[in-house]
Amino acid sequence: MSKKYRIVVNEDQCLGCGTCAALQPKYFKMEGQKSRPVKEVVVEGEDDIDAINEAISMCPSEGILLESLEE
Ligand code: SF4
Repeated sequence: MSKKYRIVVNEDQCLGCGTCAALQPKYFKMEGQKSRPVKEVVVEGEDDIDAINEAISMCPSEGILLESLEE
């Protein structure tokens, strides 16, 4: 079974810098001054988990989480 993850952007923490959306527009988009996940659930093997983690590591407010979902 491929692992699934949920992308969560904490709106209270998001500073609206746009870094995540600029780096990974496939997974993050800006709505006004806040980032939102394009896809809430991503799947290992189908989605680029490393790229998502890279965007997470570049977020200045540590406002993005990748939660592991149970099968
Ligand atoms: S990188 Fe972080 S602070 Fe910047 S828009 Fe994305 S979630 Fe918000």
